[in-house]
Amino acid sequence: MTVRVRLPEALHARPANRLVRLAQRFTATVTITRGAKQAKASKILEVLALGAATGDEIELAATGDDAEAALAALTELVERGFLGDLVPETGAAAVEGIAIGRALCVGEAAADDDAAAAGEPPEVRAAGAFARARASLAVLIASLSPREAALFEPEVQILIDLEAVVLARVAEGEAITAAILAATTAAQTDLIQDARSRLLEGLGAKAPDPRLALLTVDTVLVAEEVTPSLVAALPAAVVGVLAMAADDAGQTTGFTSHAAILARGRGLPLAFFPSYVLAQIEEGELVVLDTTTSPANVWPSPSEALVDSAKQRRALRATELAAEAAAALAPLTHLGVVVRANLSSLSEPLPPGAEGVGLLRTELVFAGRATAPSEAEQHAAALAIVTRAAGQPVIARLYDAGGDKPLPFLPSPPGQDARGMELLFGHPTVLATQVRALGRAGARVLLPLVRGAGDVEAVRALAPAGTEVGAMIETPEAVALTGEIARAADFVCIGTNDLSAAILGQAREKSALSRDPRVFRLVAEVVRAAHAAGRRVTVCGEIAGDPAGAQALVGLGVDALSVAPTRLAGVRRALAAATKDDCARAARAAMQEG
Ligand code: PEP
Ligand code: MG
Repeated sequence: MTVRVRLPEALHARPANRLVRLAQRFTATVTITRGAKQAKASKILEVLALGAATGDEIELAATGDDAEAALAALTELVERGFLGDLVPETGAAAVEGIAIGRALCVGEAAADDDAAAAGEPPEVRAAGAFARARASLAVLIASLSPREAALFEPEVQILIDLEAVVLARVAEGEAITAAILAATTAAQTDLIQDARSRLLEGLGAKAPDPRLALLTVDTVLVAEEVTPSLVAALPAAVVGVLAMAADDAGQTTGFTSHAAILARGRGLPLAFFPSYVLAQIEEGELVVLDTTTSPANVWPSPSEALVDSAKQRRALRATELAAEAAAALAPLTHLGVVVRANLSSLSEPLPPGAEGVGLLRTELVFAGRATAPSEAEQHAAALAIVTRAAGQPVIARLYDAGGDKPLPFLPSPPGQDARGMELLFGHPTVLATQVRALGRAGARVLLPLVRGAGDVEAVRALAPAGTEVGAMIETPEAVALTGEIARAADFVCIGTNDLSAAILGQAREKSALSRDPRVFRLVAEVVRAAHAAGRRVTVCGEIAGDPAGAQALVGLGVDALSVAPTRLAGVRRALAAATKDDCARAARAAMQEG
């Protein structure tokens, strides 16, 4: 089976690449003949070696099961001028969305050597770079919303630690840029890359791209490196970002990077592509980026039809998102329940509709620390979240270490596997410091795996006056003591994750979401006893993030739910759509076997 086509464009690297990638989708073997030369259509070096020029005629021949389809697709690709509509380049999505704009390609400016400021002692020059980096970070933080500014707080500390390392290297005779690069190569967070970029700018070895400030048309940024500061400083004209994947398979998602968190907060689609994809995109050409699919797609120089269909998908998505957001914000007064968010890090934003933080897992916020964070650091962290919650309550749990969440600074006594309050009482200084820090910041303090009223009274004695103290009921033993625990506490929270694991005899690491009726019956028991003591009840285990589970919990009389941020909108929508009777029915069904 053969077809002859005339080339509207020479088979140089980009069209050849598209043709090869399309040919690779078929099992048929396709050969291309130009004059006396022949090439396999799936081999880019052979296709390039054809040397085919604009206007040349080529013959496509295919054998195999899908030969006809392969020839039809390849012919269409050639006849449509290799527009790329048929063969989008693929990458990994970090932030979902659809962007249409002109490409602006910004490269990593090569770091200069240290000759620029000859005459100035290197230590002085390095110290100057740090001073400028600190100042530029302070300016950036001051220009951002509290939520975005909080993301950059760790960078202040990173610069302090880097300064000591870099100045020591420079004092030993290392060039400044080399010392900065060496000190920042093992970047476990993109804030270290951010600090590196900022230092190179402070040194004059790198400068922000001045074209960014002058953009007037919708622009898709194509960048080798996307730092959080770059995203934070992007003008509104930038409607999407293509960044270089760390690996050429394009697998890097950077999904939880600070740059992605910032981009997500701004609704800015972001995806990572292999370097050869970025290299193909030409400055100023129109680009369609769609990261709502997996893999993410980019079409450089798309046809008008493709742009129109992307615009339609974008408009539809905006309508759907607006409807979802409105549904998530609808008040739940008809059920008398509030929904809060569970947070595990300082950088997680509070999702729209969250009525405060129902569980701040401090053991995860400070995971990876060899030593206990100081009172000042914990106070600053808690205060940042209290500020972000803007008047809504923040319930910060004392370190729930041990088990599958060990903390190096809270070891269990030898031979024991203590967790929760039992473990904390073995480390009285850590406990007292944390209770003070959280209470001073205005957070409510929550006791993990409470064992009895005595635990609550002991913590209350350590807390600043007026601090609200809550107790987490997470074991069948604590359920049986709910009455006395509730009377000692200001509120009660049920940890259904641990409670389910205990009831089902499962290790937490291996546990799955369970709607075991026994757990719902224990919830009902806690609600009865706590309400009899005049205390409100929250559920913050994963079952609260399950829309059906949430309805059942509300039917059992739970006053507040606290769920993972990504679950919040779904739970609120499910509750907004349910009546009290629906919830009561769901509760009865949840407590029944089978
Ligand atoms: C729980 O046990 O339900 C709970 C919320 O605490 P964690 O999952 O952190 O143990
Ligand atoms: Mg628990």
